[in-house]
Amino acid sequence: MNLYLAPVVISNTQLIDRIMETLQHTFKTYVNKISLSIDTDSLYSYERKQYFSTGFIEQSAAQTTHFNGKIIMITELDIYVPVLTFLFGEAQLKGKHSIISVCRLHEEFYSGVTNNELLYERAIKEVYHELGHNFGLIHCNDWDCVMHSSNSIEEVDLKGNTYCRNCFGLLSKSLL
Ligand SMILES: [Zn+2]
Ligand SMILES: [Zn+2]
Repeated sequence: MNLYLAPVVISNTQLIDRIMETLQHTFKTYVNKISLSIDTDSLYSYERKQYFSTGFIEQSAAQTTHFNGKIIMITELDIYVPVLTFLFGEAQLKGKHSIISVCRLHEEFYSGVTNNELLYERAIKEVYHELGHNFGLIHCNDWDCVMHSSNSIEEVDLKGNTYCRNCFGLLSKSLL
């Protein structure tokens, strides 16, 4: 199983590198950093001042048909789908593609205070969460589980940073 990390409009290389290291450790596989050419201008909504999340996934899919593995995009841009105010991330259920936005994972967004450790903790939870969807996991009721849904930053902070035993079992099966 291959993992590909695709930074899309994000300057925090330290965060990217740390996420890559953690994923390599957790999934015991090499994580390739790739660059996709995502036309973000075409995904921008002037009305909402945000970028259409599903559009990233469509463009990623069009460029990576020959890839065998999961492709995780990470961006600093604020993303949305029409029915929601914002998204921390979106993934194809049992698919290859996902996107995580760290825009609203920054503590600066809420309190104005920079906290790189907290940013990393939040980002890795959302990466695990969206990857979980790629592996077929649905939302979990266990607050200690990273597959619990989180619609606010408080909920991101509240949920655990690993898969619960049940979700991990399902994930392991789909890795075989
Ligand atoms: Zn989810
Ligand atoms: Zn779970």
